[in-house]
Amino acid sequence: MAQPIGRHFLQIPGPSNVPDRILRAMSAPTIDHRGPEFARLTLDILDAVKPVFGTTGPVIVYPSSGTGAWEAALVNTLSAGDRVVAFETGHFATLWSQMARRFGLQVDVVPGDWRHGADPDALAERLEADSGHAIKAVCVVHNETSTGALSRIPEIRRVLDEAGHPALLLVDTISSLGSVDYRHDEWGVDVTVSCSQKGLMLPPGLGFNAVSEKALRAHAAATLPRSYWDWAPILEANRTGFFHSTPATNLLYGLREALRMLDEEGLPAVFERHARHGEATRAAVRAWGLDVLCLDEREHSPVLTAVLLPEGHDADKVREVILERFNMSLGAGLGKLRGRVFRIGHLGHFNDVALAGTLAGVQMGLELAGLPPEGDGVTAALRVLTTGAAA
Ligand SMILES: *Cc1c(COP(=O)(O)O)cnc(C)c1O
Repeated sequence: MAQPIGRHFLQIPGPSNVPDRILRAMSAPTIDHRGPEFARLTLDILDAVKPVFGTTGPVIVYPSSGTGAWEAALVNTLSAGDRVVAFETGHFATLWSQMARRFGLQVDVVPGDWRHGADPDALAERLEADSGHAIKAVCVVHNETSTGALSRIPEIRRVLDEAGHPALLLVDTISSLGSVDYRHDEWGVDVTVSCSQKGLMLPPGLGFNAVSEKALRAHAAATLPRSYWDWAPILEANRTGFFHSTPATNLLYGLREALRMLDEEGLPAVFERHARHGEATRAAVRAWGLDVLCLDEREHSPVLTAVLLPEGHDADKVREVILERFNMSLGAGLGKLRGRVFRIGHLGHFNDVALAGTLAGVQMGLELAGLPPEGDGVTAALRVLTTGAAA
């Protein structure tokens, strides 16, 4: 590999690029997490983070990855033997189901082809067959990062409401939060799971659970073993601005800065920017003559685009060439998509020119990897960026 010069392009769909402002905020000295200055920091953050989740209720912050926040959502609300419906939207949804099974939950998986989001009609069928309300929770991954399909949470909510079904709605927003419109309260979500290193532009290390009143009632009755992940002692300590165990102080400095940045740009503008970048990227992929993995026009992810290669081509080879020649990282195909797709991340701290550079790198990489693009995807993307219209 040539000596890399210039900025590395970290175009995987998380961790995303961390802005200098956040890195600088995190470089402040660590303070006493039992002192008054810390209490002010916590209370500020716990307040400022709510609009990003679209909630007025509590948000619990863990020193953890997203996987930990998944576990927290399950162990705080469910009991061994409970039935849970989950959708096989892709690799992450599959991992969450496997975790649920390890806790002794009976997971009823709605099969999927990894090219669509969660199917509301399939949920309606399952709920209709469950007049005894044995199903205790429905687990959905909002943005399936392995495929680039965005599930329609309001439609999932509508199906639950129309069935009059009391199951909890648990949603993984690990790669959508802070990049895609999301409304915990309005959509009647009970636990929203997220983490720091994707749309929130932070390094890895913080996990989140936003919880509804109904989730808190479920917590009081749930009997899965919980200790570190238990909401109760955290909520109790948070009331005065503290945590019961040592929090990730410097990541919290970063979170405070990230929330300021999202507020300065304005969430609607943040969401519009991501949607535009998604559209421009798909225009490029189509101009190259390649397939966008997600098949439903209503479900294209504004966060990442998974590009499906024709049979006989190795997506890892394309990624390898691009890393070696252009110092840019793209996401690998995960699970059964290994080698079949590469994923272009366009989330977080990102702008039009950075997207243009990213797509230029991909276009050159395809050529060098023996997959000469049919057409000029970069120009197709620039047209979307400048005029808002695909060719
Ligand atoms: C990244 C990701 C996860 C896993 O999060 P970790 O921080 O790696 O534990 C889970 N779900 C989705 C949708 C993700 O994008």
